[in-house]
Amino acid sequence: MGFLKIPIIIEENRKIIHVDMDAFFASVEERAHPQYKNKCLIVAPDPRKNHHHGVVTTANYNARKYGAHSAMPAQQAIELIPRDKLVIAPPNFELYRKTSDYIHNIFGEVTDNYQSVALDEAYLDVTENKLNESNTLKIANYIQQRIIRETQLTCSVGISYNKFLAKMASDYRKPFGRTIILGEYAEDFLRPIPIEKFNGIGKAMQQKLHDMDIYTGGDLQELDQDVFINTFGKMGYIMFKRVHGIDDSPVNSHRVRKSIGRERTYNQNLVLKEQIEKELNFLADLVSKDLKKQRQHGKTVVLKLRNSDFDTVTKRMTFQDYVQDKDEIYRIAKEIYDKLDISDQKIRLLGITLTNLDPLSYEEVSLNLFKTEDN
Ligand SMILES: [Mg+2]
Repeated sequence: MGFLKIPIIIEENRKIIHVDMDAFFASVEERAHPQYKNKCLIVAPDPRKNHHHGVVTTANYNARKYGAHSAMPAQQAIELIPRDKLVIAPPNFELYRKTSDYIHNIFGEVTDNYQSVALDEAYLDVTENKLNESNTLKIANYIQQRIIRETQLTCSVGISYNKFLAKMASDYRKPFGRTIILGEYAEDFLRPIPIEKFNGIGKAMQQKLHDMDIYTGGDLQELDQDVFINTFGKMGYIMFKRVHGIDDSPVNSHRVRKSIGRERTYNQNLVLKEQIEKELNFLADLVSKDLKKQRQHGKTVVLKLRNSDFDTVTKRMTFQDYVQDKDEIYRIAKEIYDKLDISDQKIRLLGITLTNLDPLSYEEVSLNLFKTEDN
């Protein structure tokens, strides 16, 4: 494989803070309903009212003591918790988004160079910052204090010289934790940490590593670069660097997705109408799933085609109402295709993209939570 061997040189000239709100949805609910504070709170659609469906978005720390956690089926979570302690709150995404926006405005007062990765999580590059403060610990402290004072919510912060370590640090001590990883201690810090906690090691990689008798950061650090690359390809190379404390990825500020789309190139040109319809259906399904995952819907559907002469056409249709449903996206893409009147042409590329995107409102989102459960 075409990877160069890299000497381990640690660049420590950046100052990165990872902010992670503590049990965010649950904490926002506790703020709105203080009587929940001493209870075991599950933020989820109530499974008792939804044919046992629904997934836990967040559990508060009391509920976590009984083993409840996010992404768990809500039915399973409520069975773990004594009845007299249990509270189930349906998610109120509109409120979480509003609270998140407020917190992001605080980040914006510290630096324009921040990257939001979820409603409750962001990276800040404070190498240069608006506070003109060179002490990163003081900046992290300032952020924590402002958030708690102005929103009554706590967050945990991780401080380091790259994004990977900053995230590992914020996860190290929760809630209301503050952890710094300096370059000279990065490898020591990672050594005892179980691989499940490494950002970037998914379920499949975990399994494979366990099969190789690898359980901790220390085990990973003893692996050769070639083993990482031969076993896991490009991601292996990234992980090899990470376990040695190296991560050059930049903080991507204000990365707003303006469109969501999928396209495919075909080794064999598509000739038959049925083939094209089948592929459009497939692409519509992928795009619809991406939209749902990112809680977005759009008003414009763009169809892209390339024929066997490499001529490319894109045509769009815009609607009054938002589109997210797979069948609807397919129907529109098909309509655009039919209007182009090119059924005599051989097709080598097809793509469907949704633009004019907006986040879903609360009602639409909770509806989708039930739907995902059925899939
Ligand atoms: Mg969080």
